[in-house]
Amino acid sequence: MHELALTENILATITERLGDARVVRVRLEIGRLMAVLPDAMRFAFAVCTKDTSLDGARLEIDEVAARGRCRDCASELALDGVVALCPCGSADVELLAGQELQIKEVEVA
Ligand SMILES: [Zn+2]
Repeated sequence: MHELALTENILATITERLGDARVVRVRLEIGRLMAVLPDAMRFAFAVCTKDTSLDGARLEIDEVAARGRCRDCASELALDGVVALCPCGSADVELLAGQELQIKEVEVA
């Protein structure tokens, strides 16, 4: 379950920046290609924040759809997996979105 490792990284970043400040809400932006399961992420978050300054904080997840642009015909396409194939037949697709993993907002009490 890589959600646990991701959550630990995120929490380390937050506590590094904010110290012991009481956090009540965290909003993350996660690209679909990161293969993160929101429910698993919420579970990992609840487990990892227990008895920390983030205990009880609400986790919000904004999922970002994957998009790419074909380098051959320049059309933009929605991607539903890691294999990108343009309707023109080209697999030379530049990734525009879908690999995000960012902390968008942290609300401190
Ligand atoms: Zn194309």
